[in-house]
Amino acid sequence: MVNAHRVRALLSVGLLCSGWGITLVHAAANPVDPAVLGRIRDSAMQDNWSYAHLEELTDGVGPRLSGSAGLEAAVQQVAAWMRALGATVSLQPTQVPHWVRGAESASLVGYPGRPPGVVQSLHVTALGDSGATPAEGIEAPVVVVRSVEELSERAADIKGRIVLINKRFDQRLADNGYASDAYGLAGEARFVGPMVASKLGALATLVRSVGNAQYRLPHTGATDWEEGQTPMPAAALSAEDADLVDRLAAKGPVTLRLTLTPQHLPDADSANVVADWIGREHPEEIVVVGGHLDSWDLGTGAIDDGAGVMATAGVIRTLSALGLHPRRTIRFVAFTNEENGGRGGRAYFDAVSKSSGRQVAAIECDMGAGRALGVQAAVAPAAMETLKAVSRALEPIGASLMVRREGGVGADIRALQKNGVPGFAPVLDTRHYFDYHHTAADTFDKVNPENLRSEVATLAVLAYFLADLPEPVLGLPVKSEE
Ligand SMILES: [Zn+2]
Repeated sequence: MVNAHRVRALLSVGLLCSGWGITLVHAAANPVDPAVLGRIRDSAMQDNWSYAHLEELTDGVGPRLSGSAGLEAAVQQVAAWMRALGATVSLQPTQVPHWVRGAESASLVGYPGRPPGVVQSLHVTALGDSGATPAEGIEAPVVVVRSVEELSERAADIKGRIVLINKRFDQRLADNGYASDAYGLAGEARFVGPMVASKLGALATLVRSVGNAQYRLPHTGATDWEEGQTPMPAAALSAEDADLVDRLAAKGPVTLRLTLTPQHLPDADSANVVADWIGREHPEEIVVVGGHLDSWDLGTGAIDDGAGVMATAGVIRTLSALGLHPRRTIRFVAFTNEENGGRGGRAYFDAVSKSSGRQVAAIECDMGAGRALGVQAAVAPAAMETLKAVSRALEPIGASLMVRREGGVGADIRALQKNGVPGFAPVLDTRHYFDYHHTAADTFDKVNPENLRSEVATLAVLAYFLADLPEPVLGLPVKSEE
């Protein structure tokens, strides 16, 4: 007996296009067993493999910026861990940018009412790919603006100055589940502010840290230059210091001394770690699941993105522990160089474009270590009905949300999604992600083991389901940037 609901579900996986009788029999004989999904969920919720390995990664290796010995040690370590699980492991080499932080300091040397001899130090850190000041630093008047737009409007005031873009991170959005939107809105100042200020003749650009917890910590992160543009000195100020400079500048002229001596070195060798858990029926069809292994240099990259890497590695750990092989291959990828280049994601896409294997779905986990609330899916509308089985399996752990996204999800799988591969990411509690993101405080203690287990369970159920479906779900070409 096939009821209307069942027919809709089958339609959504594209099984009813022709030959009703035959395809129905085929589909009915090959469902993804809910009991198996339940076993995967329960096993992941009781297993601390990901948490224990995250501790080894963050405490043992530490920071993993592209070009560093730490990143390459992590590549070898993760590859060894995946081999130990019984996965088929290879390294996918790529060159990565090699930018190295130098000395960094900033101080207020002139402001209205400054007592003679007083110099106030500010908490500052260079943005990734920043250019350098002379070793002795620069000293210049400051112009404060609140947005990149205002920077352009005040073009005449910028030349020869140090620009501060004091754009706030809106925690109210983050508190209500829109942390990545808050990040995108505030982050514009960091992503393109220095590029725009440089074109207007500024000497250096400071941006208010993009994040919330205000412990006078600067948040680093990449900034973008146009092709051929010489990188200017660009740094993040702690939120408190951005407000301090802003208040003083409202009273009169402020002069700042800034020293940043990072270096751009020749590209370095790195690699993605690729670990295949071979499918039992269609080994050449791939469901990729991964996060990025590189991290910023200030902290130890626990929430960004050690947690994502070890949670996605935990998918294979879970299936290995249960001895389960879905129809298709589940491929874990620890991407290199997401933070300041995206070369790992590109190398993966280039490699699979040349291979005969078929990418049927891509899952990325790169939004911290918060509790999993469900799944976001960049898929064709019809796929949502099929995915209800995933929500049902995750309901007992409170991760039943299934949100459809028109844009893509995840930077390292963006090229795949643009080419029609359905993209997925867990929905995580990100209310406090941007408290520590890209700061020296991104360390192992910020990760709650139970929350990490909920990520593993969500990812493992989703990955197994996608890899075991009789027919893959349909994606959508991503129209706009994330
Ligand atoms: Zn990240």
